[in-house]
Amino acid sequence: MKITIVYDNCLSKPRLRTGWGFSSLIEVDGAPPLLFDTGADGTALLYNMKELGIDPGRIGIIVISHAHGDHTGGLASVLEVNEDAEIYVPASFWGTIPGRKVVTVTSLLQISEQVFSTGELKRIEQSLALKTDKGILALVGCSHPGVGNIIDAASRFGNVYGIVGGFHGFHDLDRLTGLSLICPCHCTQYKSEIMQLFPRQCVRCGAGLVLEL
Ligand SMILES: [Zn+2]
Ligand SMILES: [Zn+2]
Repeated sequence: MKITIVYDNCLSKPRLRTGWGFSSLIEVDGAPPLLFDTGADGTALLYNMKELGIDPGRIGIIVISHAHGDHTGGLASVLEVNEDAEIYVPASFWGTIPGRKVVTVTSLLQISEQVFSTGELKRIEQSLALKTDKGILALVGCSHPGVGNIIDAASRFGNVYGIVGGFHGFHDLDRLTGLSLICPCHCTQYKSEIMQLFPRQCVRCGAGLVLEL
């Protein structure tokens, strides 16, 4: 499994664009790619995809974590160049996407062979639990329901060994003890504190980062 950070506040590869928001692509051999969130700006998102060699027309599934613009802003631009991706939104999502197959997620759900949704937590946001050889990797948008609650929900699919995405104002840093991969992205307010506390486990996030799992 390969995760590529397509859109983030920070940069990991030269020439890419940054912006407040988050988007990542999950690729598994033999399955069409899955896009998790779409950043704030569609032009920047598609630009980064082009630079990273990602064909947005080939994306088979789009999952939106929650209805905030820094995660949904690029959706319309992707849909302009992608005619048949299945779309998974949390129940609190306000928009309509006419003519598209949209799955509204409330509770735990299997999306593809190795990809599960935690369901919408705290009536605001869903996260993904990715099944890898090492265990479960939690992929999160903004973590509005709280990182601890998300880890607890993802644990229902197996032992959580890592977490990637925006942690927002999360500061109960003990909850990260025992994880072997911590990649704080996007809105994480205590990023430098987390990096200092878990230097061996942390990976610096940014647009263009590729994680091979
Ligand atoms: Zn956000
Ligand atoms: Zn948000």
